[in-house]
This record gives sequence, C-alpha cells and structure tokens, in this order.
Amino acid sequence: MNLDNHPCFNPGACKSFGRVHLPVAPRCNIQCKFCNRRFDCVNETRPGVTSAVLSPGQAMVYLEEVFALKGNIAVVGIAGPGDPFANPEETLETLSRVRSRYPEVMLCVATNGLNLEPYLDEIKRLDVSHVTVTVNAVDPAIGEQIYSWMRVGKRVLRAREGAAVLLERQLAAIKGLKDRGIMVKANSIILPGINEGHIEAVARRMADLEVDLFNAMPYYPNAGSEFEHLAEPETATVENIRAAAAVHVKQMRHCTRCRADAVGLLGEPTDDGLMNTLSACRR
Ligand code: SF4
Ligand code: SF4
Repeated sequence: MNLDNHPCFNPGACKSFGRVHLPVAPRCNIQCKFCNRRFDCVNETRPGVTSAVLSPGQAMVYLEEVFALKGNIAVVGIAGPGDPFANPEETLETLSRVRSRYPEVMLCVATNGLNLEPYLDEIKRLDVSHVTVTVNAVDPAIGEQIYSWMRVGKRVLRAREGAAVLLERQLAAIKGLKDRGIMVKANSIILPGINEGHIEAVARRMADLEVDLFNAMPYYPNAGSEFEHLAEPETATVENIRAAAAVHVKQMRHCTRCRADAVGLLGEPTDDGLMNTLSACRR
C-alpha cells in the first residue's frame, strides 16, 4: 500500500490512480442548507448523489466487479450519500469486509465529523489511512447560518447551539485522527454571502490542528436545497480564497466534486456499465 497513491490527496497520482465510493451510508445526522439528497440522477455530478444505495454485502459484490473492470483503483472510500457515521454499522462492516478481502487497498472516509470521535480507534484498527472532514465554519455564528439542525443522540439541536456542538466535535475528531497518524483533509464549501470571507479562518484553524490538506470547494447550486438561490462562486473568488488559505495549509486544487458512487479516475465520466452493475447489485 503506497499512501502517496491517493488521487485526492496527491495531484501527482490523480492521472494514474482511481477511487471507488461505496454508497452504503444513506442517512445523515445533520441538515446542511446547501444539500438536497432527494435527487437520484445519473447525470448529476456532485456529492450526495448516487444511483443506488447498497448493503455491505451488496457493496462487496459490486467491488469485485469494479476491480475486475478497472485496474487502477487504489482507494475504496465511503462518502455517503449521507454521512458514514450516521450509519456506523453499515460503514464499519463495509470497511471491515473490504480490509479483510483486499488487505492492500487504501481505505478512506468522508464525513461531517459530528459522530466520528467514537469510532476513531475502530477506523485506525481497520487501517483507514485517509479521512476527509467537511468544516464550513469555525465560528458558530456563521455555522448557524449553514446548518438547519443536527441530531446528537436523541436530541435535535438547532441554530447556534447545534453549530457549536458540531464544531466542538469536528475539532476533537480531527485532533484524534492526527493523534492516530491518519491523514486528514478538511473540505470547506465556499458559500457566497455566507462564509466566503471566513474560509481563511477555517484554514488557519485546520493548520493549527495539522491537517494535511485543505480543499476550498466552490458551492455547487443545488435545486431543492434551502440555498438554491445562491450562485456558484466566481472562479476569481475561489482562487483568491485558496491563495489566502494557502498561507496556512497546503491546498487541494483538483477536486472534481464527486458523486457518492463515483468510480475511476477523478473527473472520468461515469462508466455506464458499472452504473448498471451498481443498480443490479442493489437487487
Ligand atoms: Fe448533505 Fe453531507 Fe451535509 Fe449530510 S453532511 S446534509 S449528506 S452535505
Ligand atoms: Fe476526491 Fe473531491 Fe472527489 Fe472527494 S469529491 S473523492 S475529495 S475529488
């Protein structure tokens, strides 16, 4: 296993090595105002979209097909379509099965971080090497504008209290990942008029926690979400934000805002054959 071959963490690897996302995590424990997961469209390319949700067993059947057809897959990841740790049983069972069957493959998870901390030792045991945590604000006054609610145990938290709890848990989880030697990328979605002036502060805080990489992602207009009226940020705005963030932490500039069932090289068009296989595995 060569940890440098992760195509998202290393731009030098993204032309040669691919990733597959296994869509085994349908539920989410927070509601981001920019997210609408009701869409289920094979033509949409963005996080939260998948053409099927699989059980861990179905995911293993699908993965076998993926490895048979694609020789360049270096990473198996779980990135939704909800949050991996809002579905901890499905996520951990899938990671465990993949680790047993393919000991040499890199494992990766992308999460909002709300419920990551209780599972840090388990993901370390499974040799998950890369984790992405999406941190859109490091100030609850801004966070409360981005999230409608979050579920913490049996409680639903809203507004500033919810944003404060989310932030506290994200920071603790990122520290826990780094303490365990796991590579961490922080994603921050640039939301015009909401947090675009705050991304540098997020990057600075992530640098304090020694995250390995920072991905300032432009918001992708999302019909049906509470933020559907927001426009995609201008390219120049994104570049300026990345330049400011780069003072603090290394930047990812090659993110392709993948679907929760993405497979292959970053940016590679969806493979129709594998899309059909994915849907067939659901049955
Ligand atoms: Fe959507 Fe991810 Fe936010 Fe959940 S954490 S609401 S899946 S963007
Ligand atoms: Fe990598 Fe970005 Fe795709 Fe996530 S969304 S798998 S970080 S390229």
